[in-house]
Amino acid sequence: MDDEDEDVPERVQTICPYCGGGGMVADPKHAVIGGSPRTIDNGRPCPHCDTEGHFPGIIPPL
Ligand SMILES: [Zn+2]
Repeated sequence: MDDEDEDVPERVQTICPYCGGGGMVADPKHAVIGGSPRTIDNGRPCPHCDTEGHFPGIIPPL
């Protein structure tokens, strides 16, 4: 095992609670394709973190 990562990281980051760190959020839409109703979920960039998925520093949850 590698024990060198036990120290406090130099850059502390907070995972974006809005997208969970993925940078994208679900964006389901109803659409009719070929006469059949469907749900499309292509996702969209997270407006909270601008697709970064995290913020620098520590942001305590509200
Ligand atoms: Zn986000």
